[in-house]
Amino acid sequence: MKPFPRAEISRHALQHNLARLREIAPHSQIMAVVKANGYGHGLLNVAQCVGNYSGGADGFGLARFEEALELRDGGVKGRLLLLEGFFRASDLPLIVAHDIETVVHHESQIEMLEKSSLSKPVKVWLKVDSGMHRLGFSLTQFADVYQRLMSCPSVAKPINLMTHFACADEPQNPLTQKQIQAFEDLIKGLDGERTLANSAATLFWPHSQADWIRPGIALYGVSPVVGDKGVNHQLIPAMELVSNLIAVREHKAGGTVGYGAYWQAKEDTLLGVVAIGYGDGYPRNAPEGTPVLINGRRVPIVGRVSMDMLTVDLGKDATDNVGDSVQLWGKDLAVEEVAEHIGTIAYELVTKLTPRVVVELL
Ligand code: PLP
Repeated sequence: MKPFPRAEISRHALQHNLARLREIAPHSQIMAVVKANGYGHGLLNVAQCVGNYSGGADGFGLARFEEALELRDGGVKGRLLLLEGFFRASDLPLIVAHDIETVVHHESQIEMLEKSSLSKPVKVWLKVDSGMHRLGFSLTQFADVYQRLMSCPSVAKPINLMTHFACADEPQNPLTQKQIQAFEDLIKGLDGERTLANSAATLFWPHSQADWIRPGIALYGVSPVVGDKGVNHQLIPAMELVSNLIAVREHKAGGTVGYGAYWQAKEDTLLGVVAIGYGDGYPRNAPEGTPVLINGRRVPIVGRVSMDMLTVDLGKDATDNVGDSVQLWGKDLAVEEVAEHIGTIAYELVTKLTPRVVVELL
């Protein structure tokens, strides 16, 4: 029997999604965002799966320096970019040695670069705050910062340019167009590559695709937009989260189940116990009625999700057995839909899985 719980990751889906993103953004290179353990799909797994063939990803977006090292140690070739510019001065020699690129978004990083003496200059992407107001240099700071980087010997030329959107997942929100315009006006005439678009912008704001797109969630077959699904964009969900039924129990009308004893059966029924809980990253706050899929049937979670298990109401006529497979989300039960039940976003569900979940690339 296979280990459970398991996140089964479809190689075919990942490669299909990459090809689909190429169709959607035919003039851009693709920086596949694989930070946070490939959004829970396995950092090295995903990068090797979508990166090592002609037509594969041209580069990878990461949050942490250690993630980039793991990819290089794993033989991943393409360009690697530290999207949030998390690096220390002591990391710079290895950043250069492994040909890792970094975003520069803060004065303190410029100082680090100015004080360093490196064997080769670092490739940087200067981040412009065009309206998200989280990271990056403001429109008024930009000219000075650009000049400083241009005269810094530790910085490779030309300097690449990037920005990030606050609301690209809201197709009607005018902020995205304002951000595009502000960024384009600012960088007009400068050399260097440009990148603006995450998944949502790639899908909904095609004129922001520029030299590089930076899709994360869409690569995994999931829509960035609440109320939407990846399949609506001909994407295939790459993760199937599965576990097993470990008990089937007769349950009397009026009986409660689990911690807090707050859910009560309205009629006699059969309860199933599924081996997955918040210790695996399945959210404890999943409310009653959140669906799981057993033998092709949706059944509701009842009672409180505990650390190692959750309980479902199989119904009095159920024929499910101990050992049967349970899908928590996947092709037949979209993670976007489960996220809506739980009041979160699919990003959080897939990234929050803990190391106890076996990640298997199929
Ligand atoms: N670019 C940057 C700078 C990011 O921080 C992220 C993810 O948070 C992405 C791209 C990918 O975003 P998404 O998963 O929405 O495509």
